[in-house]
Amino acid sequence: MTAPLLDVRDLCVSYGRAQVVHNVSIAVNTGALVTVIGSNGAGKTTLLNAIMGLLKAKGRIGFHDAEMSSVSLENRVQAGLSLVPERRELFADMPVEDNLLLGGFRRSRAERKQTLSEIYTRLPRLQERRQQLAGTLSGGERQMLAMGRALMARPVLLMLDEPSLGLAPRIVRDVFHILTDLRKTGVSILLVEQNARAALEVADYAYVMELGAITTQGPPAEIARDPRLVESYLGLG
Ligand code: ATP
Repeated sequence: MTAPLLDVRDLCVSYGRAQVVHNVSIAVNTGALVTVIGSNGAGKTTLLNAIMGLLKAKGRIGFHDAEMSSVSLENRVQAGLSLVPERRELFADMPVEDNLLLGGFRRSRAERKQTLSEIYTRLPRLQERRQQLAGTLSGGERQMLAMGRALMARPVLLMLDEPSLGLAPRIVRDVFHILTDLRKTGVSILLVEQNARAALEVADYAYVMELGAITTQGPPAEIARDPRLVESYLGLG
């Protein structure tokens, strides 16, 4: 068996004396789309930020057979980790294209140009709006721009923090369709979501996070049948 691409073991994260992530172990295989679902405040954002290197953590973060836990944020990006943050964090008064180019600032000019044209092919809406200020985009377009910007770094593992947040169901479907499309091109994906139903539809493997710990894991179809989880996360529909 080959080792997982991302192999997080016993990760613990605290804010001051308050520990909010407790011994979390998760893995993402190369080419897989893995989701972590859980309600508000479960610690999902904290987990992603710790993997990315935005927060200090105890435990192991194996990526490509290297240990990342003491590696800087910049070097984690170089190694192929990229995060689409929950608040999307775009530069509202800059055009779409400039926001995208910032995502690839570590790359050579030629590489950036090439990646930009690939992203425009994949996300034609961004090309149509390339000169529009990011702050004037719709919610769905903003999410696409945040994803496009993360892709400019040519990630091996793309991590997304609640990409469905604030979007209408139809737009959520579009965004998740882009994720499954991306996966087909070989990008591995770690998707953190409160919208469990949508996430379980696209994922290959799922973890449930509650009160800072992973309480259940398995194939999405199994999780979707678990009566307790259905009641807590999936509603009655
Ligand atoms: P959400 O979907 O609301 O973002 P989440 O599952 O991503 O929820 P986190 O944002 O990781 O959860 O928060 C986990 C816990 O850590 C919460 O109790 C939250 O109040 C707390 N927390 C988050 N950020 C901080 C911080 N900067 N300082 C102190 N506590 C924090």
